[in-house]
Amino acid sequence: MQPPEIRFYNALTKRLEPFAPVDPPRVYMYNCGPTVYDYAHIGNFKAFLFADVLRRFLELVGYDVLQVMNLTDVGHMTEDDVADGGGQDKMEAAGERLAQDKKSGKLPDGVDLDPNDPYQIAQFYIDAFIADAKLLGVKVAEEYPARMPRATDYVPGMQAMTQTLIDKGHAYVAEDGVVYFSVASFPGYGKLSGNTLDKLRGGAGGRVNDAHQSVKRHPGDFLLWKPDGSHLMKWDSPWGAGYPGWHLECSVMARELLGRDVIDIHTGGEDNIFPHHECEIAQSRCAHGTDSFANVWMHARHLMVEGEKMSKSKGNFYTVRDVIGGKVTGNTVDPAVLRLELIKAQYRSNLNFTRKGLEDSASAVRKLRAFAGSLGTNEAAAVGLDHPAVARFVDALADDLNTAGALGEVFGYLIDPDDDPAVTRGVLARFDAVLGVLEPSQEGGQGDHGRISERVAALDAARAAKDFATSDAIRAELEAAGYDVKTTKDGTVATRRLA
Ligand SMILES: [Zn+2]
Repeated sequence: MQPPEIRFYNALTKRLEPFAPVDPPRVYMYNCGPTVYDYAHIGNFKAFLFADVLRRFLELVGYDVLQVMNLTDVGHMTEDDVADGGGQDKMEAAGERLAQDKKSGKLPDGVDLDPNDPYQIAQFYIDAFIADAKLLGVKVAEEYPARMPRATDYVPGMQAMTQTLIDKGHAYVAEDGVVYFSVASFPGYGKLSGNTLDKLRGGAGGRVNDAHQSVKRHPGDFLLWKPDGSHLMKWDSPWGAGYPGWHLECSVMARELLGRDVIDIHTGGEDNIFPHHECEIAQSRCAHGTDSFANVWMHARHLMVEGEKMSKSKGNFYTVRDVIGGKVTGNTVDPAVLRLELIKAQYRSNLNFTRKGLEDSASAVRKLRAFAGSLGTNEAAAVGLDHPAVARFVDALADDLNTAGALGEVFGYLIDPDDDPAVTRGVLARFDAVLGVLEPSQEGGQGDHGRISERVAALDAARAAKDFATSDAIRAELEAAGYDVKTTKDGTVATRRLA
């Protein structure tokens, strides 16, 4: 296989660069995953779906992607936007929130968690995350837990990396007993974010935590290990019982699960650039003595909702369940529709999530499925990447994952496919290997979906033949099986009802 020339914007060099993995056809990719203290919201999922589309695209063109997405269940502090952020561990904050909700009777049905058991809270939100991710077609969720490590399972490795960094003179134990990374020991610090040592030293402008400055060698030094006997999650260590720093977790999990000092791609949301990714680079490169950690850094832009930053106080804060359950549109939403809505804009461009956009995506998914249903065959011919429509689709994605351009090619193809039906189905299969919206959600297993689409097709055929007794019977059968059945101008749509 000769992969097409792919260019990605590398946040480290601030340039579009040809993509050249170190060990082709293997691609080693690490994605910063969720902190499991609450349900992930649709803004979080925009970044996870970007990583999923990236993986699917690389697989489409022949790469073999080893993907790791972590689950953070300790050490992520509430003040995470400054270097060495303080505040409270988000897992402990979740316990307080749950205790509060319990008191005021606001806990949702079925959520009965012990506020003092962060492990139980983490497991609950991990399960919820995996379910949501599977519903939205995020492939790595099918590889949980093998490729989705939780930080608390890798603490020995974090202690080992801390010791290595101390031994190599990149970390020190300060007077307050905390092990800090010494940013001045790493000349590359600041390259990713632009927050260089000089900028961080001179009136840091809110970019560093003001606490503990007296014991640090440089204001930008950040914690690797914090002794804290009162922390709910703590481990014995040479520096006292305590917990690891959030940045350290990703450096360690990337190394242990990808098995390499230098990986190809590291992704996250744009809010991860500083301090999180800047610190990951410093730790990994200094611990391993390499001149690179991830060769390409890619970040998904924030999601706006109805033109504003999403926040609980503005009432525009949505989880995946909120959207699918009908909180935005008043009707249940097919997970594929939400998936399409969150991937339709190129990952670095602004995406404004609106009710209207969601409705447009619903219509796009209906159109695609109706078109596939109209082909009159389930047989898909093997279609190569050299098929002109597939080649144009791939070219769009090879241009820094331009999903908007790729979707343009898809809908352009539907207008006049000029192929026989089996070839057309083969082309659609190539598109959908990346888009992941043609088949109804995998929830409930492939077999169930095959059967449901078959029944929907039979219903449409009966209607077309004006055999309304049969179409009514099939509709009743689908409804009894837990589906909402709607007649649209593009044919029947069955959506699984949420419990
Ligand atoms: Zn991370």
